[in-house]
Amino acid sequence: MIQSILSNLAIILLMHLTMTVVMDFEKSLKPIYIKIITVLLNSGSVIAMFYLPIYLNDNFFVDMRLIPLTFLAFIQGWKVAIPSLLIASTWRFFMGGNGMVPGIIFGMVLPTLIALAFHPRSKLQRHYIEKIFVIFLCWFVCDFPIIFIVPNGLEIFQETAFVRASSIVVTAIILYTYIMQDRQRRVLNRHLEKMADEDPLTKLVNKRKFYELLEEKTSTLKPKHFIAMIDIDHFKKVNDTYGHLFGDKILVEVADILKKYECKNLIVGRFGGEEFIIYIGESNLNTARNILEEMRKDIKNTTFTFKDDVAVNITVSIGLSELEANDNLIQTIYYADQNLYKAKRSGRDCLVCPS
Ligand code: GH3
Ligand code: MG
Ligand code: MG
Repeated sequence: MIQSILSNLAIILLMHLTMTVVMDFEKSLKPIYIKIITVLLNSGSVIAMFYLPIYLNDNFFVDMRLIPLTFLAFIQGWKVAIPSLLIASTWRFFMGGNGMVPGIIFGMVLPTLIALAFHPRSKLQRHYIEKIFVIFLCWFVCDFPIIFIVPNGLEIFQETAFVRASSIVVTAIILYTYIMQDRQRRVLNRHLEKMADEDPLTKLVNKRKFYELLEEKTSTLKPKHFIAMIDIDHFKKVNDTYGHLFGDKILVEVADILKKYECKNLIVGRFGGEEFIIYIGESNLNTARNILEEMRKDIKNTTFTFKDDVAVNITVSIGLSELEANDNLIQTIYYADQNLYKAKRSGRDCLVCPS
């Protein structure tokens, strides 16, 4: 018995391990593919358990099929649990045999429905005891009918209840612990990625991430790509006059204005200090100029307020440069910077384009 319980546990853990690997590719896979893989893995592991029976007496056996199904229903809901249930039940149906109907109804359908009933409230914060209760209930619904189904059912149930219930609860605890650990790891990874890619003040991408995104975009130099540098005029004076907190608030609001223009071919990043960098792809000089002029006017026409009694208008200077076929990104940024300084020298609040 212990051997077959362990073989069921091995199937469940193998399923979890495979799911962990799949979830590591979460970003590059469409959600629908993740759902399909989840359903196939889950139903596959349930089907594998049909062939790894745990004998309760010489001719009556069960397995841990309810665990993958109830976990899926409890954690992810009906959209993946019901298709898994259907696949596994159909398989069991065609396997036939005496235990087919109770195996489907009490071993799979009812436990899945019970877990689904608890799903909408299945937040991670829920109490551990409540989760154990759900799995205990699923075991009971699965095994209790043995009393009425087989001769000597009561005897078999009494003899095996403790081992069955405890093996199911322990397996569930092991699986749950691994799932939670994996979730925590992914949350932490997402947090670290965000910290590495994002400017904490403006929430724009930082310089490093901007370069990374651009490398993907500019791998084909057809059609044209542009880089613009935007610098707030006389920002030091704003800081010196109203304080750095207001300065920070202005930076956040300027970033929000620029973010409005973001799309597939327009990326905004914080280059550093009060300087922003813009990528405009698949465009031409005229369109790029018009977009940047609109940004400049948008910022100029915005009044930035602080504590109800300070209202300030600011302007920005912009330098534009085209990413030519033989240039690298750093050179293009250098040319955009040169044009930015030309804009500063010609009185600020303007855009200078490549000549
Ligand atoms: P110019 O028109 O020539 O660009 O003048 P400027 O005063 O904007 O230029 P300068 O480079 O002298 O000053 C930039 C200022 O930007 C200095 C610094 O106090 C401010 N600054 C840079 N980063 C931050 C930030 O994160 N928060 C705030 N509040 N200020 C910042
Ligand atoms: Mg400045
Ligand atoms: Mg500057």
